[in-house]
Amino acid sequence: MKIKTICAWCGELISERYCPETKNYQVLAKNGEMVSHGLCPACRLAIEAKYGLNKNRGSEDV
Ligand SMILES: [Zn+2]
Repeated sequence: MKIKTICAWCGELISERYCPETKNYQVLAKNGEMVSHGLCPACRLAIEAKYGLNKNRGSEDV
């Protein structure tokens, strides 16, 4: 089976790989493909900027 990872935000294909077919893959996969969601580097940066996920070191409460 094929596992595609696409960006949950912009839909860009991040990676594509093949996996051995497991017992329950038919539940998860459509047409032999399984889609999982991730974040492409661009969207990850955008989200970090937007939600301030990398602000842990700061103490600037605005
Ligand atoms: Zn993206």
